Amino acid sequence: MAGELGLKQVLVTGGSRGIGAAISLALGTAGWRVWLNYRSREDAARKVAARIEAAGGPPPVLARFDVGNRAEAERAVKALIDAHGTPDALVLNAGVNRDGLFVFTDDASWDEVLATNLTGFLTVGRPVLKGMLRRRSGRVVVLSSIAAQRGSPGQVNYAASKGGLVAAARSLALEVAPRGITVNVVSPGLVETEMLEGAPVKQLLAYVPLGRVGQPDEVAHAVRYLCSDEAGYVTGQVLGVNGGMWM
Ligand code: NDP
Repeated sequence: MAGELGLKQVLVTGGSRGIGAAISLALGTAGWRVWLNYRSREDAARKVAARIEAAGGPPPVLARFDVGNRAEAERAVKALIDAHGTPDALVLNAGVNRDGLFVFTDDASWDEVLATNLTGFLTVGRPVLKGMLRRRSGRVVVLSSIAAQRGSPGQVNYAASKGGLVAAARSLALEVAPRGITVNVVSPGLVETEMLEGAPVKQLLAYVPLGRVGQPDEVAHAVRYLCSDEAGYVTGQVLGVNGGMWM
């Protein structure tokens, strides 16, 4: 169902940079009104919004909030829904990594990674799902990671959060399927964004059959499909966009 002005609306968390920016562009230029969330880099968020408008897409709604801050995120999402209605799709993309060996992991970085990556699923997802359930339609796409599936040394905190998202998404998919809402996971491998800076990419490419890192828009196209009407019979799935990377 479309919202105000007959436009389909999507909330994209972490839409200001990297994969989230590519998702915002892919959906915005396909005619969706994007509610573009970011946490700190307003300049980057504005640039993405300008690119969408320049390409003829509807003007995005910029929404600054920290998905890991329960009170702030719930307040902001509620205000968005009050102003614009329930979005047709929700893309839970915002994520952080704080890498290091497990034994040296401090409490603060564990808490930050879990709060942003996993608790964000609750704080942003809950108010949106309430509206989708009432409306009996909706698309939810969650960004996990190859780290959740094959493990990743130095990323125990990150892998725990991303594995939790897969389990949460699969369970939610079962809960909401009777109301016509789909919930799927996109699980990227190595994608060229700021998050990949500092990672041992050359070493890791040995595990990528296609022999290269992915580009953000290659992930965005998968997300756009899962948000589309055409994906109505796809739910509870984990779609790897990883160049064939596995064990
Ligand atoms: P980037 O670091 O390039 O971008 C992260 C985005 O998330 C930014 O827009 C940032 O906004 C936003 N963000 C971070 N923390 C918060 C927060 N607390 N609240 C709101 N927004 C926040 O990451 P990627 O684009 O690489 O990653 C996107 C998703 O894909 C993540 O979930 C990541 O885990 C996953 N992924 C990425 C892979 C890769 O190789 N790049 C591989 C596998 C999964 P701001 O700039 O304003 O802080």
